[in-house]
Amino acid sequence: MISIPCLEALVQLTEVHDRREMTRRLVELLDQLFPARAIAVYEIYSRQRGREVARSAIEDLFYRNLLEPGEGAELPLTGEESFLRCFEREEMVVLDYAAEEGQRVVYPIHGVGGVMGLLVLDCFEDLGEELSYLDYLVRIYANHLLLLDKKERDALTGLYNRQSFDERISNVLRFNVSDGRRRTDAHYSHLAVLDIDFFKRINDRFGHLYGDEVLLLFGHIMEESFRVTDLLFRYGGEEFVVVLSEVDDADAERVLERFRAAVAAYPFPKVGQVTVSVGFTAIQPGEMPSAVVDKADKALYYAKYNGRDQVCFHDRLVVEGKIAAEELEEGEIELF
Ligand code: GH3
Ligand code: MG
Ligand code: MG
Repeated sequence: MISIPCLEALVQLTEVHDRREMTRRLVELLDQLFPARAIAVYEIYSRQRGREVARSAIEDLFYRNLLEPGEGAELPLTGEESFLRCFEREEMVVLDYAAEEGQRVVYPIHGVGGVMGLLVLDCFEDLGEELSYLDYLVRIYANHLLLLDKKERDALTGLYNRQSFDERISNVLRFNVSDGRRRTDAHYSHLAVLDIDFFKRINDRFGHLYGDEVLLLFGHIMEESFRVTDLLFRYGGEEFVVVLSEVDDADAERVLERFRAAVAAYPFPKVGQVTVSVGFTAIQPGEMPSAVVDKADKALYYAKYNGRDQVCFHDRLVVEGKIAAEELEEGEIELF
């Protein structure tokens, strides 16, 4: 049953480093192999915490089509009985159609903490023995997905790392350019740089292990504060970046201010209070990634220079004449 073209398709699947492209190739391959009416791959995610599906309550879990992210949007996992069963039992669910030939196969895609996705095949005929091929193919796909995920994430916090920032920010900028609607109603992405205040002192006073724990907990607070659709990065040592999607300026500021307050209120073990300074900017259509980060950085310098533990909005600082780009050349102020 596995032919040379199928093996070739399998090789091509593992050649790409983009989740969506890899998924598209998997679907193409399965389409060659199985007599399917429809094939879909869904990702399961938690509304509460972006990546910790395994630790979420079932009511907080949603699924969405990985290849058609905009359409049908997100649906509650509890609303689809066969999906829920596949997720909970971590095994394939096969449903025979009552009125016609064929069957629906719901197949689990395993991630770190359990089932992270579902493959759904609507087949014209019963698959029988051929189901075992499916098992191998999905496992190859899932293994490769895990490797990709590992490569993109920071080992300490589990957030996306600096390497994946460049690729992902380019996607966000493309999206902002192509989608005119979001520009006209002032809902577009914002980028924020978050930098822990006096982090060096924490290391000096309590040691690197406690410093690392602060970073880890800081990452958790980020995951709890921002939406699943926002992108969270550990950008450098104690510097983080958030890309907030589809908010207006006022909401972006509110969300970041709420995060700042959550950090200041968190009792870090042994260390006690830790504060964070934040600079952010609206992402304008057609901007270069480096220019966006630069603007958020300037607002961050301003926050650091004016007392820390605060959120500063670049675009407003410019309007108010509080930052003149010439006065804030990076080399002039040694804060970091
Ligand atoms: P500011 O308020 O101006 O941001 O002061 P700061 O002390 O936070 O800034 P600075 O850039 O001077 O110090 C950052 C420190 O972060 C220095 C470095 O030793 C520490 N650091 C960077 N990466 C790590 C890490 O992975 N673990 C730990 N424990 N410390 C780190
Ligand atoms: Mg710092
Ligand atoms: Mg820093």
